[in-house]
Amino acid sequence: MAPVDLPNPAAHPVTGGLFRSPVPPGTGWPGDPATAETPVARTPAQVRRLAKGADGIPELDARISVCRACPRLVAWRETVAVEGRRASFADQPYWGRPGPSFGDPDAEVLVVGLAPAANGTNRTGRMFTGDRSGDWLYAALHRGGYASRPTSVSSGDGQVLRGLRIVAAVRCAPPENKPTTEEKATCAAWLDRDLELSEGRLRSMLALGSIAWDAAIGAARRRGWQVPTPKPRFGHGAEAVLTTASGRRVRLVGSYHVSQQNTFTGKLTEAMLDEVIGRL
Ligand code: SF4
Repeated sequence: MAPVDLPNPAAHPVTGGLFRSPVPPGTGWPGDPATAETPVARTPAQVRRLAKGADGIPELDARISVCRACPRLVAWRETVAVEGRRASFADQPYWGRPGPSFGDPDAEVLVVGLAPAANGTNRTGRMFTGDRSGDWLYAALHRGGYASRPTSVSSGDGQVLRGLRIVAAVRCAPPENKPTTEEKATCAAWLDRDLELSEGRLRSMLALGSIAWDAAIGAARRRGWQVPTPKPRFGHGAEAVLTTASGRRVRLVGSYHVSQQNTFTGKLTEAMLDEVIGRL
């Protein structure tokens, strides 16, 4: 990626505030859960320790959003943010940090994604925001009664989710959308804690794609939930009932990912997405 001369700092597209890329924590970015004092995980062991010690969703999100435990992904997300911006967004600041969860901290429903997109969440700081995948997902969540608006284009745009929270198997944008096995394993500790903090009220989870499906099942197993054997297979519309250690039944529903590869080709239609969201 050839270095180019991009504005840094640059103006946030909604607030007009000036931000450096990547955005330093606690500097006023809309929805930034962290402060300059938020502890930073730099190793897999520190991810596990800081995830376990987060006393609620807001603190967990803050710690996720400053994580630096995967050197390859940190380098990629920050390089894109500083010198690899898409031409149409070149005048905007890029978040350049991990994507924290977005939505209702008391949600009964979780949507599990794969990983942030380099010019979507990695730019806006919010899950599935500012790209075509997000256009599909938020429109469907709005039709389903979970999202206050049919679009999610930028942090600070007023989008609010009710009863639902979006998490991901991996929280940093990976090159070619492909995290390594090691990166998935390191980041899983954040998802484990997400599940632990949510399970007392959780009703269902929607896994977008097979990696999210596997991540949700892996987290459930590590939490000591009962998972059917043989392991439920991913497919669009696949469904499995997972049982928490306290006996709560949680429905896991599979959906093809809302990637352009699936939506442009008609592999995933609006009707198909509405149908699985209706089951949550
Ligand atoms: S992928 Fe997850 S564990 Fe790795 S640096 Fe990003 S937030 Fe941290």
